[in-house]
Amino acid sequence: MLEVLDPATDKVVGRVAKATRREVDAALDAASAAQPRWAATDAATRSETVAAIAEGLRAERTPLARLITMEQGKPLTESEAEVDYAASFFEVASRESLRLGDQGLEVDGKRVRVEHRPIGPTAAITPWNFPLAMLAKKTAAAIAVGCSQVVKPAEQTPLTAVRLGEIAVAAGVPRDVLHVVTGEPEEIGEALFQDVRLRKLSFTGSTEIGRLLLTKAAARVLPLSLELGGHAPLIVFDDANLEAAVELTMIAKFRNGGQTCVAPNRILVQSGIHDRYVDALAERADRLTSGHGFDAVDLGPVIDDAAASKIQHHIDDAIEHGGRVVVGGGRRTIPGLTDRFPEPTIILDTGPEMRCWREETFGPVCPIRRFDREIEAIELANRTPYGLAGYVSTSSEDLGRRVARALDCGIVGVNDPRPAIADVPFGGVKASGFGREGGRLGLDDYLVPVTVSEVR
Ligand code: NAD
Repeated sequence: MLEVLDPATDKVVGRVAKATRREVDAALDAASAAQPRWAATDAATRSETVAAIAEGLRAERTPLARLITMEQGKPLTESEAEVDYAASFFEVASRESLRLGDQGLEVDGKRVRVEHRPIGPTAAITPWNFPLAMLAKKTAAAIAVGCSQVVKPAEQTPLTAVRLGEIAVAAGVPRDVLHVVTGEPEEIGEALFQDVRLRKLSFTGSTEIGRLLLTKAAARVLPLSLELGGHAPLIVFDDANLEAAVELTMIAKFRNGGQTCVAPNRILVQSGIHDRYVDALAERADRLTSGHGFDAVDLGPVIDDAAASKIQHHIDDAIEHGGRVVVGGGRRTIPGLTDRFPEPTIILDTGPEMRCWREETFGPVCPIRRFDREIEAIELANRTPYGLAGYVSTSSEDLGRRVARALDCGIVGVNDPRPAIADVPFGGVKASGFGREGGRLGLDDYLVPVTVSEVR
């Protein structure tokens, strides 16, 4: 069995099976057998089933949120928001799956039809930072269009995934269509890659593991969707509304303690507003409270010791390279809890020579850099292998649009700290991966267009 720990206390909060190779194979057997039946189920039934999963999630909002907080650590209100966000993916998939429709045309006396068929048995591998939502994106789309799915959640947060599986079955998903397998990532990964019946793998996680999976997939030409790491820039222009710019930063940066793929990791602030922005942000960040996610705090623990050490290392490295810490810089000690509570930290005079500018910190750290010219900010913002999200803070519509167009990433928030919603595509460019989740395009990842041309 695998023990699941509360990252705030290190108490065991659950145990899940360590799936054996035979069990993973059995899940694939069942998913493969179920595939044609689920694909043949009429679209309206599938759509209703997916909508019923959304209802099931909303009905269990509080207990599910508690489960997320227990194994992942984020404050309860954020877990509740995650349940809502996850449910919205099922609602959108339910709606969009009814609009797929085949295309037909007559050309040169031939009758040609393009059918959008479910790609086949699929697999999903998901990270720990949003244990419910990252899985919901994949399961909602797969189930809605008629694919079976084998799911492997992160080993730190498997309990939420198991519960989602139960809710889906209660909502009407046949038992053999959706499988949650928990255990050792490498072993489960190997079993999935070696099974030629698997037709698609959707992965959300680090760029490092994504790259590894891409090489494995190449060997058998397995289609992948990769939602990988990010290193979002936030550009604050002189004409920004100060309060709104600070609010955007507080939400986008400190949500989930900075453990989000779309968190701003490089904050570029124009000279005219720089000092006022820093003062206002420092005042707000310093007031953030830390503690157990059940205790009405702003920040929970980070996921494990390695995460806490990496954050500290990034801060120390920035200081070594000339960064100036104006708030935080260390860890908070909270009686009775683990030492995984990095202080909200603001570092000035940061730049590309520092690790925090090159790697994801995945913590409550704001590296800030002053700039003068728009072009300089855009060049710095795009100088990264990543390309997931970016943010702009300005009161000029023209400037906002121009910079949004210039940013080399998949999602841009102009004065918007939460640009990701279930109705529209979410995903990155460059080393942040490929494939899209959300909206109509999110379903395409689980469909293959098949052309049937008839001569009569
Ligand atoms: P991770 O890459 O370490 O793990 C992700 C998943 O892959 C986990 O389920 C893990 O068990 C599994 N895994 C690890 N090694 C494997 C192997 N050899 N074979 C098969 N599976 C394996 O990432 P993490 O630490 O869980 O999550 C944080 C990362 O996820 C960050 O880089 C973050 O930016 C990224 N992320 C991206 C998005 C996005 O939508 N682009 C969303 C959330 C998180």
